[in-house]
Amino acid sequence: MINLATRVSELSESETLQMAKLSRELKAKGKDIIDLSLGEPDFDTPLFIKDAAKKALDDGFTKYSPVAGFLDLRKAISEKFKRDSQLEFSPEQIVVSTGAKQSIANAVLALVNPGDEVIVPSPYWVSYREMVKMAAGNLVKVNTKISNEFKLTGKELATAITPKSKVFIFSSPCNPTGAVYSKEELHQLALILAKHPEIIIISDEIYEYINFIGKHESIAQFEELKDRVVIVNGCSKGYAMTGWRLGYIAAPIKIAKACEKIQGQFTSGTNSIAQRAALAAITGNLTETISMREAFNKRRNLVKTLLNKIPGIKCNNPEGAFYFFPDFSYYFGKEYKNYNIKNADDLCMFLLYEGNISIVTGSAFGDENCIRISYATSEEKLITAMERLHNTLLLLK
Ligand code: PMP
Ligand code: GLU
Repeated sequence: MINLATRVSELSESETLQMAKLSRELKAKGKDIIDLSLGEPDFDTPLFIKDAAKKALDDGFTKYSPVAGFLDLRKAISEKFKRDSQLEFSPEQIVVSTGAKQSIANAVLALVNPGDEVIVPSPYWVSYREMVKMAAGNLVKVNTKISNEFKLTGKELATAITPKSKVFIFSSPCNPTGAVYSKEELHQLALILAKHPEIIIISDEIYEYINFIGKHESIAQFEELKDRVVIVNGCSKGYAMTGWRLGYIAAPIKIAKACEKIQGQFTSGTNSIAQRAALAAITGNLTETISMREAFNKRRNLVKTLLNKIPGIKCNNPEGAFYFFPDFSYYFGKEYKNYNIKNADDLCMFLLYEGNISIVTGSAFGDENCIRISYATSEEKLITAMERLHNTLLLLK
């Protein structure tokens, strides 16, 4: 008899990955599903990055790397922070990991003791919740409002802080809402956090380059928070490198060393070929990153126009990433055949099986009224998907 550890039964499967898996299975059975579930650029990795990986193989980069990553890559990342955000981090403050997901897990495990409170603005990215659970921390959700584009205000943050607060995690640009905090909005949060020097901020900036309103702003820029911010970033989104698994943090030395120690016992250094590819990406020019961003922006405008034609939906106005997070609660309580739509979970299953479109329930992200739509796919598919969404919703009475 196999008795698994209780942490497995307590852990939820990632709902984004689960929905993507279900769509793949239906597609394999011949169903014509349009998959808008996964947050993944549909573009191929730029050629100069792939070439660097091929060269790395030929040059014999096939051995273990230092746990925190090759020194030249960490130097390049520290230069990147100077170049893009005017932030100073030494290479010792950088830890390269197997995806930003591992970077966040390292940081959470390095900081959270059982019973510590971790504050997250809700909606939040699915994996924050489960990582905090694995560290036996308590997730403190602070609900945000669609009328404020799901952005947390200083006042709302202040109400969530207690003597047990240890970490504050958020993303900007945000997954699942696409919200982008302005410098002033970040400053309001920084002013509150300044009064609580025991709270460490994990600032997830993986969508840095997918920002439609201008310069990326990091909460690490404020003097009040000096030496208390862990920035998370990586190559998955900006360089279309999701499969390469390359993320990193820039953190106070003490936290960087702790993450290195944890990673040294779990996975060691990140894949050596992916690190050489990342070096090319991070030191290369951003031409292709910018054209991908422009394509995402066009798709955003297209999807927005089409969503606004559907009755009953309250749509947000994302300024970054590649998601919409509209409120679909108008459709709760309606029926079609055997479907009785009680919530966003039911609505997503109805849309998958009756409408052949795959999107993710808001409950995965802490908001029961909304659904996440990833528009990282072609305009042609998006037009068909929005038609299907519209027509399928109209079946509900
Ligand atoms: N943070 C956020 C907000 C994300 O959406 C994702 C997933 N794409 C990640 C972190 C993890 O990215 P990766 O592990 O692919 O680098
Ligand atoms: N981050 C992406 C998403 O939110 C990929 C899925 C995942 O890593 O959970 O869809």
